[in-house]
Amino acid sequence: MITLAARRTLSAFVIAFGIAITGAHLFERADAAPSPRRTAGEEQRMPSVMSGDGMLIPVAGIQVSQLVDTFDQGRSGHSHHAIDILAPRGTDVVATADGRIRKLFNSGDGGITIYQGDTTGHWMYYYAHLDRYADGLAEGALVRRGEVIAYVGTTGNAPKNTPHLHFAVFELPPSGEWWKGDAIDPYPLLVNAARQRAIASVARQ
Ligand SMILES: [Zn+2]
Repeated sequence: MITLAARRTLSAFVIAFGIAITGAHLFERADAAPSPRRTAGEEQRMPSVMSGDGMLIPVAGIQVSQLVDTFDQGRSGHSHHAIDILAPRGTDVVATADGRIRKLFNSGDGGITIYQGDTTGHWMYYYAHLDRYADGLAEGALVRRGEVIAYVGTTGNAPKNTPHLHFAVFELPPSGEWWKGDAIDPYPLLVNAARQRAIASVARQ
């Protein structure tokens, strides 16, 4: 694994919401996703498309207040570059957005994993440590936001007594190669999307 500097472009948003970030090293000893490529000079680059529009927290029943930003935590020689969402084993994992299942993959660290693209080809969502896939899930399948795609587990290197979803968001290069994305902190994206939904729901009343 390559040691990568953490992207901090969205951290100010987190601070603005006054969310306490614990320093505890959660969960994995090493983590799941293949190393996202990153080159010098990219650290200050904002995502060219601010995703998060409508992204759902990908674990059923989890509220924003339960999320902890673990993006920058160390994982045995590299940064985590994902968020860990604690939930009981077997809890529904739902698609964070509409898109297509690009890869179903079983890796040593990530265990049972899903790579799901969005509808624009700009983003890749990665779900790891799954207990199992939803029945019938297949590569190439279109999924809708909120659709159950898998169940929370501890496959790969997750501690067996700490079931959680390891969730990462990658911004893909223009070539669209799904395995070459840059990791973006999912935490502010999820918080922002939930906030926008709350505002929209108040506006409708
Ligand atoms: Zn993780």
